[in-house]
Amino acid sequence: MTDAAFDAEALEAARVLFAGEANFLMGAVAMDGLPDTDLPEVAFAGRSNVGKSSLINAVTGRLRLARFSNEPGRTREVNFFVIGDNQLRLVDLPGYGFARASKGVVKKFQNLGRDYLRGRPNLKRAFLLIDSRHGLKEVDEEAMAAFDTAAVSYQIILTKADKLKPSEVADVVARTQAKIAKRPAAFPRVLATSSEKGTGIPELRAEIVQACAV
Ligand code: GDP
Repeated sequence: MTDAAFDAEALEAARVLFAGEANFLMGAVAMDGLPDTDLPEVAFAGRSNVGKSSLINAVTGRLRLARFSNEPGRTREVNFFVIGDNQLRLVDLPGYGFARASKGVVKKFQNLGRDYLRGRPNLKRAFLLIDSRHGLKEVDEEAMAAFDTAAVSYQIILTKADKLKPSEVADVVARTQAKIAKRPAAFPRVLATSSEKGTGIPELRAEIVQACAV
């Protein structure tokens, strides 16, 4: 949990940053189309429908900054958003795990998504989104293995926490924390969020600011 992770000052600084500019920069379909590595970046990854677009919209306070993933054409791109006065970028990675044959989809994610994760020196942290009702699935474990191999620091963010009772949220946080304890690149804090209710959003903004050291 994040109880004492951030003081009021850190939360306020993060709020102010995200109350400023937030703009879509570009969508890349290949590694040679990525923007320069001049700004710190944090990336968002997760199974399709996990609530990734909603979370990016909630963090930035923009209703439709990240297009909803069911809009055709956008889902396989790596989408970049610039925050503040060119302070950092949020990166929306392709969703994975939506086909019956998850292996092929994971492969797709592992192509551009993995290439991005491997080849991005300015990537400060990846947020791996997990639906709090479902917990970690096999495809998520595969994604974590990819992060561990690429030595990319990643943090589990539970989504849609409003769909559970507080005690159930605490349970899934504890279970998830236990599961990632031995994963080398996993960040130990698991954060429960709700884009719908705003739960955990100030803390996630503070995590981003801390990761990017802005
Ligand atoms: P994506 O495919 O990961 O980008 O997921 P979306 O952001 O498009 O969300 C998928 C579905 O989950 C949509 O129907 C959203 O309304 C719903 N959803 C997303 N976030 C939340 C949340 O915090 N609470 C609830 N109850 N539903 C959510």
